Amino acid sequence: MSTQSPGPSFSELPLSPATLENLERLGYRSMTPIQAASLPLGLAGRDLIAQAKTGSGKTAAFALVLLSRLTASRAAGVQALVLSPTRELAEQVAQEIRRLARAEENVKVLVLCGGTPIRPQLASLEHGAHVVVGTPGRVLDHLSRGTLRLDALCTLVLDEADRMLDMGFFEDMQRVIEACPAARQTLLFSATFPEPVARLARQFTRDAEEVRLAEQHAPTKIRQVFYRIEERERLGAVAALLDHYRPASTLAFCNTRRRCRELVELLTARGFLAQALHGELEQVERDQVLVQFSNRSLSVLVATDVAARGLDIAELEAVINVEVTPDPDVHVHRIGRTGRVDQEGWALSLSSLEELAYVARIEEASGTKVPWQPLSALKRSGREPLLPPMVTLQIQGGRREKLRPGDVLGALTGSAGFRAEQVGKIQVTEMSTYVAVERGIADEARTRLASGKLKGRTVKVRRLGGA
Ligand code: ADP
Ligand code: MG
Repeated sequence: MSTQSPGPSFSELPLSPATLENLERLGYRSMTPIQAASLPLGLAGRDLIAQAKTGSGKTAAFALVLLSRLTASRAAGVQALVLSPTRELAEQVAQEIRRLARAEENVKVLVLCGGTPIRPQLASLEHGAHVVVGTPGRVLDHLSRGTLRLDALCTLVLDEADRMLDMGFFEDMQRVIEACPAARQTLLFSATFPEPVARLARQFTRDAEEVRLAEQHAPTKIRQVFYRIEERERLGAVAALLDHYRPASTLAFCNTRRRCRELVELLTARGFLAQALHGELEQVERDQVLVQFSNRSLSVLVATDVAARGLDIAELEAVINVEVTPDPDVHVHRIGRTGRVDQEGWALSLSSLEELAYVARIEEASGTKVPWQPLSALKRSGREPLLPPMVTLQIQGGRREKLRPGDVLGALTGSAGFRAEQVGKIQVTEMSTYVAVERGIADEARTRLASGKLKGRTVKVRRLGGA
């Protein structure tokens, strides 16, 4: 928690004396910024779309709202539902709600997640829970079995909405939300705010207040460096930049498709995992390139401005301008794709003598001089070749087989024994499911998935991409 100037006190809020006392006991002396911005609105009954970085106190920002609406009698039913991406996060949220609910009598908070047997959950549900925290897949299971009823629901929380979408939970979430009463309060919390989260928020909130605390595209978060190069050095210089900065995900812009192809050839020959995005790819190939890039199992995506249009990628450590663009607006747009939210990003540009005029336009448009460094400042790292942190496994079978992200996550974290943190994005398409796993466990994860069962069937699993 930041210890700068203390935020406003919880006592400014319409909370019961018992709750205030409990907060005091928990050591919550003042509100964090996201709490100060969202609690007054939430407690007044408004829908919320809230964004703030990890660790900023979002849980209490929604927990105090849902607790303020609760009737804790045995027969009152489930009045609040929190959807959460993983079991670990759901457990943490449930813990925090229980701590905050200590002031109240007998508030029952139940966790419903996949990867654990369903029977004990049924028993707990019969005992009457007031707050349910769960992953979309398992909550949906209970809804379809009729073991969870949401008629009495007042508050719906979508926590870590960005991560839930990353994990391919959109359809499950949609079905769960549709099972909630229309007259409810909806609170959406997210650490980042890419377009899919905005769409989700628009679709499922009503007249919501937006509370966004993370400055996006803050100029100081983007560190720009220009390098003067000779034409013949250009493609090799990209490899030198990757070797020196070692970004996990890089978007490299070229002005022409031909340059894109040449760059991918050179990078591949030097052991990098790079792919080009261009119009000649078939849909499946294009999907696979994007799946791998967005789940961090492809280091470099090489694209023209046209091909990169509409790309929606949350975490980019670097943007490389293989060539300087003649249009300063295009330059700003390109480099704005890195350094989002609370991450810093590198914007690295290569300029030949001929392109210096374009650099001058960029300086003129921005009103500042750009910083230069010589290529010789780049260390030949001599380290391991740069490899992306994740590997994509392609599972044969998708929506048609009714596979859901929770099935894959469950298989990996259940009998296969991996931790949820070792599993990244899970994307289910019509015919295939793609799951990102940490590079170090890729082969083992592949073997275990292929030798186990998903939805009662044996599935073929293969590793996508090289290395
Ligand atoms: P987020 O969901 O935004 O990542 P959490 O809700 O998990 O963040 O909160 C991060 C930590 O801060 C937790 O340990 C929580 O107990 C603590 N915390 C939350 N609100 C306050 C507060 N007002 N004062 C002190 N600590 C707080
Ligand atoms: Mg959180």
